[in-house]
Amino acid sequence: MPSEARVYSYSAVLMGSPILLKLFEDNQPVAAAVFRLIKQQEDLLTVNRAHSQIMSINQAAGRHPVVVSPPVFRLIQRARAVSLLENSSFNFTIGPLVKRWKIGFQGNSVPPQHELQALLALTNPANVILNANECSVLLEKPGMEIDLGAIAKGYIADLVRDLLQRQQIRHALINLGGNVQTLGAPPHGEQNAWAIGLKKPFADAEAMIGVINVAGKSVVTSGIYERYFELDGRLYHHILDPRTGYPLDNELLSVTIISEDSIDGDIYTTLLYGMGVEQGLAYAASLPHIEAIFVTKTKRVHLSSQRQFRFTLLDDSYTLA
Ligand code: ADP
Ligand code: MG
Ligand code: MG
Repeated sequence: MPSEARVYSYSAVLMGSPILLKLFEDNQPVAAAVFRLIKQQEDLLTVNRAHSQIMSINQAAGRHPVVVSPPVFRLIQRARAVSLLENSSFNFTIGPLVKRWKIGFQGNSVPPQHELQALLALTNPANVILNANECSVLLEKPGMEIDLGAIAKGYIADLVRDLLQRQQIRHALINLGGNVQTLGAPPHGEQNAWAIGLKKPFADAEAMIGVINVAGKSVVTSGIYERYFELDGRLYHHILDPRTGYPLDNELLSVTIISEDSIDGDIYTTLLYGMGVEQGLAYAASLPHIEAIFVTKTKRVHLSSQRQFRFTLLDDSYTLA
């Protein structure tokens, strides 16, 4: 029986999340470079502080365009394009609603309907004007705010993968607060794959519905049990429906995407969440580069075709659909 290689784990708290890097050699300089990269990107993209490239855009809303770095510009281009898809539940101009709900932060409350309506008027992605020649971004209406919270971790996870590849590292895992990207598989492992737990909703942090086996793939999960508050017996979670202004409300507890690039995983978790199981499965089937796992409130686990992953159910209160 082959023995598993020794794992070296490095951790930090960045982007408000626990970050974990796993390598199979003790390589402090690479770990330091990874955390430095994540911190640099957080500094560019955050909306939870006064200064960043995104905050400069938001602060100039309704007034003037802001020039950003080419990579940030391309990220915004991608976010805008996905937001403009017909009936998209992904909307990167959702900032005013996120700020008003404050879900997962101090002082959250349920906004009155008329306030949500007024804020929805500030969330039209077509009101973001891009100029590719100068890499500038203009938010046409005062009060508009970009929020890259649903895409940034995936984008950064891919940058980490690219950095590790440039360092000739062939076996590694980076977990950005639930957003996982992998290089290869653990060396000498029996499975020739990583084992990534699918968290059991509303249970202990270690409790799992099952295990996802992948090699060289990204695994991203978005769920309603990650950040939420409860009021009068209702649960208000952090993925908002840009069509209503309220948290997305359907049969789902979580959506997991398995893909090559983590940015796709981050985008499509939000996009497929809003579609629900039936339409989401059909959509995943139409996209060869992504696969999906849906977990419903009725404790059913729906899997798309399994070319890029294997799934093993561990919790018998859930059933495979
Ligand atoms: P996480 O990985 O932190 O759970 P997600 O990738 O699920 O986050 O994205 C949720 C975050 O994205 C929210 O905290 C908010 O900042 C932002 N957001 C909320 N609703 C939407 C939406 N419909 N479209 C795009 N971004 C959203
Ligand atoms: Mg996301
Ligand atoms: Mg995410």
